Amino acid sequence: MGLFGKKEACPVCGKEVKGLFLTKIGDKKTLCKDCSKRISMNKELIKTATPELIQEHLAYRKKNAEKYAALRWDIRYTDIPYLKFGVDPGAGFFYLESDDLHDEDNPVVFSFNQLTGYELYRSSQKLDDSDTPGETFLESTLSVVSGLADLVKNEEDTKYEVFKLKLTTTDPYWPKLEIKITFSDERLYGWNGCTAFDWQLKGMCQLFKNIIRKEPITIV
Ligand SMILES: [Zn+2]
Repeated sequence: MGLFGKKEACPVCGKEVKGLFLTKIGDKKTLCKDCSKRISMNKELIKTATPELIQEHLAYRKKNAEKYAALRWDIRYTDIPYLKFGVDPGAGFFYLESDDLHDEDNPVVFSFNQLTGYELYRSSQKLDDSDTPGETFLESTLSVVSGLADLVKNEEDTKYEVFKLKLTTTDPYWPKLEIKITFSDERLYGWNGCTAFDWQLKGMCQLFKNIIRKEPITIV
């Protein structure tokens, strides 16, 4: 009885919980649409989060939005599929915007000091990391040799590959990030009206390395 009449209230803000794609936190509690939309946090943390932790997190997200608005994003890369990146080299901050970060309209801002590790993979082969000095190379023989099995084909038979960007940070909500970039080679190197994004991806990775290795920033 009563189950259908009683409306569930959001454990964080008290608003009615309705709609699809809502976020579930610890103790099988469900957040309302507004709260679900505003959080940007590692999946593992969400699973066990308490309403108090989410409240703290929402205050942190509000500060993040203020930081994002106040900083000067002198470098911005926007051609990488589903990933946007910007740097304020003077103040020492960067932001990332991607579906994997669930950061709806509020890109996550990190200080240079928060970035502790960077790795780049193409399919399952590691191309680069923060221990490797020098330039980032995206080219790999993988797709010719062993990588064929990893290629995904869509209906039009276009071959797609995936870059995986792994970052570790001291941010309390994103200690580990794994961002997938799915692309066709035409898209990567630019062809037939596609905008190339290889130089932007190289540039972004180079900056991650510079930041972690405390080297001067190289702008591509
Ligand atoms: Zn709520």
